[in-house]
Amino acid sequence: MPPIPVQQAEAVGEYDMFVIGGGSGGLGTARRAASYGAKVGLAEATHRLGGTCVNVGCVPKKVMWYTSEEASALRHAAAYGFGNAEENNKIAASFNWPMLKKKRDAYIERLNGIYDRNLAKDKVDYHEGYASFIDKNTLNIKSLNGENYTVKAKKIVIAVGGKPHIPSDEEVPGASLGIDSDGFFELEEQPKRVAVAGAGYIAVELAGIFNGLGSETHLLIRKNAVLRTFDPMLSDVLLPWMEHGGMKIHKDTGITKVEKIDGGLRVHQKNGPALEVDTLLWAIGRVPNADGLGLDKVGVATDAAGNVVANEWQETNVEGIYALGDIGGKALLTPVAIAAGRRLSNRLFGGPQYKDDKLDYENIPSVVFTHPTIGSVGLSEPDARKKFGDSIKVYTTRFRDMSGAMLDEDQKQPTAYKVICAGPEERVVGLHMIGVGSDEILQGFAVAIKCGATRKDFQATVAIHPTSAEEVVTIF
Ligand SMILES: Cc1cc2nc3c(=O)[nH]c(=O)nc-3n(C[C@H](O)[C@H](O)[C@H](O)COP(=O)(O)OP(=O)(O)OC[C@H]3O[C@@H](n4cnc5c(N)ncnc54)[C@H](O)[C@@H]3O)c2cc1C
Repeated sequence: MPPIPVQQAEAVGEYDMFVIGGGSGGLGTARRAASYGAKVGLAEATHRLGGTCVNVGCVPKKVMWYTSEEASALRHAAAYGFGNAEENNKIAASFNWPMLKKKRDAYIERLNGIYDRNLAKDKVDYHEGYASFIDKNTLNIKSLNGENYTVKAKKIVIAVGGKPHIPSDEEVPGASLGIDSDGFFELEEQPKRVAVAGAGYIAVELAGIFNGLGSETHLLIRKNAVLRTFDPMLSDVLLPWMEHGGMKIHKDTGITKVEKIDGGLRVHQKNGPALEVDTLLWAIGRVPNADGLGLDKVGVATDAAGNVVANEWQETNVEGIYALGDIGGKALLTPVAIAAGRRLSNRLFGGPQYKDDKLDYENIPSVVFTHPTIGSVGLSEPDARKKFGDSIKVYTTRFRDMSGAMLDEDQKQPTAYKVICAGPEERVVGLHMIGVGSDEILQGFAVAIKCGATRKDFQATVAIHPTSAEEVVTIF
């Protein structure tokens, strides 16, 4: 269903709930509230529903990750008896980026349509425009054609997400010549040479995709490790493997200046030679999307980074105003935003059985789509030591998984698992894995860990053979 026409928008009356933002969190919140019969409206400031995840995040990123995995499968095919290595490598190198981008965009557009129809099916009024506070129950909506109108609501949910951060040209001269992760999804052609700045999961994922698809890829990191909020084992295994795969890792460095040169960019760095590349991609973090929301008009508190402060019930300091998803600055993941939103709507509109419903932010599993993938749930070893002291038990294993059985030794991807246990009963408080299939293996173990599984429970579970996952229950 198309967005509500501006002429009708002001006449809708007061909403029970109005949600600002049509991304993962906003859609989850609005649809769940409407399913209980609440009168719900939602504003989205762009032409596309689905937010970061669908348009410039998880979904198109995963398509690109699969694409890069396909290239790798082609390179390995000869070892399993398909064609010959030289021909297969040529095919892998002939990747058609423009064709894939067109297909990927069409896939995303179909998803946008599905989100649109779902809102209509659930009877959520869709306002296409930018919402900002007038008072705690009134919002101004600036529609995409520039017209302004107001809506009223008993409860307002802020689910406006975040955006990529790029240094200003004052901080790093020429910084704006680079692109960010949003720009990655707009690239019409594959850059032959690319520099990626950043050490977080988005940086290593996008660098891994470029490298897998054959771009000369430089990764510039400020210290000597990546994924520094994760267990250190993961960086220890990933970095050398990325280097082994041809990626150039520049450690303890930072970009000092970017210049436009004939046919590309010259990227000057603090510690190392200037790099000549076609594209510079900044992936150095995300910032909240709160400017312009008028939070000051209603007195909604933000933290030093600009994230909206919400308690465990997603309540801000202003009664009737809630915040969830990336704008809260905590566990920036799609399923977190959706789960927080659905639970909030359950509690507000779902009846007495949901009176205590809220999201538990402990033991949230997360995956990094590198090659091979990473999965992580619970405490890292340093965090477990901080919490439980040196009495924790740490079990590790490293091996080459069987998918590489027919490959030459230097092509076999590494696998490393770590299980961290605490207390006399050895409750599993952390599981960290890197290796083929870690993205799919983790979910089931996350259930077990959420249920409080102990070493004994893991050991009592019969292994599935021959798999990589079996090592998690035989690691002890
Ligand atoms: C490159 C990349 C890869 C990612 N990969 C993964 C992954 O693999 N797995 C995972 O779980 N997460 C991933 N994420 C994170 C995930 O996308 C976010 O955690 C998730 O989208 C957050 O949902 P949200 O609803 O809080 O915000 P968003 O999805 O960002 O939605 C916010 C929406 O609000 C709109 N908006 C903003 N201001 C206003 C306003 N004033 N009025 C109206 N509308 C407004 C925005 O246009 C946007 O559509 C990735 C993110 C990126 C950038």
